[in-house]
Amino acid sequence: MESKIYLHICCAPCLIYFCEYFKKENIQWKGYFFNPNIHPEAEYNKRTDCLKKFIMENNFSVDFENRGTEKEFLNRIGENKEHWKKAKNSRCHICYEWRLKETALSAKREGYRYFSTTLLISPYQDHDKIRELGEAIAKECGLEFYYKDFRPFFREGRKMAKDKVFYFQKYCGCLLSLI
Ligand code: SF4
Repeated sequence: MESKIYLHICCAPCLIYFCEYFKKENIQWKGYFFNPNIHPEAEYNKRTDCLKKFIMENNFSVDFENRGTEKEFLNRIGENKEHWKKAKNSRCHICYEWRLKETALSAKREGYRYFSTTLLISPYQDHDKIRELGEAIAKECGLEFYYKDFRPFFREGRKMAKDKVFYFQKYCGCLLSLI
């Protein structure tokens, strides 16, 4: 098994189980925070502040990517709110694809062969689609998508995050998941 993974991080509560798992398996990794889907800015700041505190306490290395904006995210999924609500799956797939693609491109720039995402731990996401997109993007970019079904460890991860008094968001991230 390749021991260096470039890991897209959606939030600190989803990351915490990966940290323990990678440590136990002796897998080296570097994080990548790219989530321009998050609305509003105050929420974005709460999530990044929690992650930064966790990084400082544990000495991880994470790249924070500021290239994407929420406006660009909304342009990608379209302007019609009624359509967004009806087409939850397709808007999420666009959201996953953008974040995974940027992760893969950054992994490549950083010299990593494997990339992955903490989204793989959430039972609330379209897990199979994330895997499908990750593998397709990996092929397109000449990389490998590190896949494991982390969903059975979701509750354990939540407990670990709760013990550390992490900030817990109440919605997935985008404007549509809030309303
Ligand atoms: S619900 Fe979550 S995954 Fe779906 S578009 Fe919104 S932020 Fe992205």
